Amino acid sequence: MPGTIASFQGVTKRYGPIVAVDHLNLDIREGEFVTLLGPSGCGKSTTLRMLGGFELPQEGRILLAGKDVTHLPPNRRDVNMVFQDYALFPHMSVRDNVAFGPQLKGRTKDEARARVDELLAFLQLSDFGDRRPDQLSGGQRQRVALARALAPDPKLLLLDEPLGALDAKLRGQVQIELKSIQERTGKTFLLVTHDQEEALTMSDRIIVMNGGRIEQEGTPEDLYHRPRSRFVADFIGETNLLTCDVQRDGAAGPRISWNGTPILVEAPQADAIADRSRVDVTLRPESIRLTAERPDAANALRTRIVRRTFKGARLDVDLEVEGGQAAASHIKASTDPALLQGNVGDAVWASFDPKRVAILQA
Ligand code: ADP
Repeated sequence: MPGTIASFQGVTKRYGPIVAVDHLNLDIREGEFVTLLGPSGCGKSTTLRMLGGFELPQEGRILLAGKDVTHLPPNRRDVNMVFQDYALFPHMSVRDNVAFGPQLKGRTKDEARARVDELLAFLQLSDFGDRRPDQLSGGQRQRVALARALAPDPKLLLLDEPLGALDAKLRGQVQIELKSIQERTGKTFLLVTHDQEEALTMSDRIIVMNGGRIEQEGTPEDLYHRPRSRFVADFIGETNLLTCDVQRDGAAGPRISWNGTPILVEAPQADAIADRSRVDVTLRPESIRLTAERPDAANALRTRIVRRTFKGARLDVDLEVEGGQAAASHIKASTDPALLQGNVGDAVWASFDPKRVAILQA
């Protein structure tokens, strides 16, 4: 198990009456790609900036490689930051921009040049060394910013929405590139983003923040398939949030039903609902199978197609569930376009695996 490289211990940051970060406890391990994810204003950037030394917390301690750095200025911490606007020097060449870091750290000119050549080659920028930043594409500028941040060989790289300025298609490419650079350098990356897809694509571990606190943390798979709160279920990916009734059933334990239809759930937290009368569950649209005939499945709902939205690789289908005690209710399914014959108004069976239903605790 790799060691802890950075720790937040009971860290609180207030701006006047606003609590930006609220008693944060977080350990980051060496070589990890960790992402702080959450909506605007949840405290992600403040957390990153405190680790970089740009903000001072009112409470708690920040450790880097076991050393208390809470009160150290940025240039005395072994971390470097990549900003959204890249903060490149516009009048300087790519080479001089990248050389800025090593020179600062007191290397000789020859050492700095060798390090710059190595980084430009590593980031496929060797042909662009003499250009100025405004003579580069967005993706190339992003790589220059990364090369500059990596130049002094910091232990930890902090990235504040580093892909924010790129268009959607390029973002996708650069996400994969950035993850591969992190893997090849073995460096620890701490990234801030509000983009859940970006977080899922790149991270070893995602920290979901809400109101200055950690809402949930885990691997991308954990958070996607086992969200613990409505907030996380809703923030990461699309989902169906169903409020269910809980019935006691003697020795068989609690059973849940949605809209009068029993729902079979196989989840580790199923026992935790024993004392409740209602519980929220989440079911991802792509976990729902649509068939014309009644399927041989533990959970099957008879529905009617309300809307079909073609998305290229998939088809999003809005369904109205028939029967039940309450008024008709809606669920969303997402399927391979080739698998759905039905049109709007047609009846269709929606079935799902009990393992695909996650019980929310909050
Ligand atoms: P995020 O990065 O998740 O969007 P921030 O960390 O930037 O969130 O901000 C958290 C909260 O702190 C927000 O309510 C924001 O308005 C506030 N905040 C951040 N920086 C400052 C500042 N320099 N002065 C006053 N309030 C700030």
